[in-house]
Amino acid sequence: MSRSGDVTQPEPIKATTSGTVPASLADVARDGSEAPKQMGAPIFEARDVNVHYGDKLAVRDVRLAMGEHEITALIGPSGCGKSTFLRCLNRMNDLIPSAKVDGEVIYHGQDLYASEVDPVQVRKHVGMVFQKPNPFPKSIYDNIAFGPRVVGMKGNMDDVVESALRRAALWDEVKDRLKTNAFGMSGGQQQRLCIARALATSPDVLLMDEPCSALDPISTARIEDLMLELKKDYSIVIVTHNMQQAARVSDRTAFFTVDLADEGHRIGHVVEFDQTDTIFSNPSDSRTEDYVTGKFG
Ligand code: ADP
Repeated sequence: MSRSGDVTQPEPIKATTSGTVPASLADVARDGSEAPKQMGAPIFEARDVNVHYGDKLAVRDVRLAMGEHEITALIGPSGCGKSTFLRCLNRMNDLIPSAKVDGEVIYHGQDLYASEVDPVQVRKHVGMVFQKPNPFPKSIYDNIAFGPRVVGMKGNMDDVVESALRRAALWDEVKDRLKTNAFGMSGGQQQRLCIARALATSPDVLLMDEPCSALDPISTARIEDLMLELKKDYSIVIVTHNMQQAARVSDRTAFFTVDLADEGHRIGHVVEFDQTDTIFSNPSDSRTEDYVTGKFG
């Protein structure tokens, strides 16, 4: 593997954080309105986020602070807006014509929805992994090199490819077949390739939308181990319908649910946000307890 290192990194988007916790986050509020105590600098702070699809409100009033180098799990019944909210964190909802996001999403002290922010740069810093592994119909190598090229990196990609595959715990399995088509890999390998692809643009956050739901238990365990390894260097927000998974890997958990609006449609919102141990062993809201004990959902 070449060590030319001739890779030009694009400018990061503006980051203005002082690295301290804003005063508004200092106190515990278990309704999700503010961060629990002991969180370091939040990587994201959602302030009154509402998402509409067309004229229908889908998610309302989300106020959550997500910790740096933590894994934050978003759990709750189907249709409560977990994926919709997750997509607010890297402006993926911009790609859905009917979606409209209100409120602020503060990332490193900057509102991601400010007019001067370039969504392509946001997605470079905040990578995403989807439910179904979705490698491009290209070689393993080109799957990884694609993203860095799109965001303007130039030159030899060998080091970028190797580094991303190593971080995703895939290098040893594929180093001798980098030029073969990614579709020849197992499902679990394809998902780790997608994680490597997301890491290749040097993000500091990974968003994962049910990343294991299409995988067998052994591949799932490998991804969970990988998440715990990755959180040393990255912050992770994961949507999962698997409560055991949330309990195993996450530091904090937000429980979402849905209410019926007057007009008859369902609106998702956060019921409770706390340390994962608390959510699963001593939740403050009976709706959370019913959900995590399997009485509802
Ligand atoms: P969850 O991830 O909790 O299952 P979603 O975020 O997928 O929930 O969905 C929340 C609500 O938004 C649901 O009522 C869903 O039908 C609606 N929704 C999600 N995506 C779209 C879309 N692209 N267009 C219109 N409505 C959508």
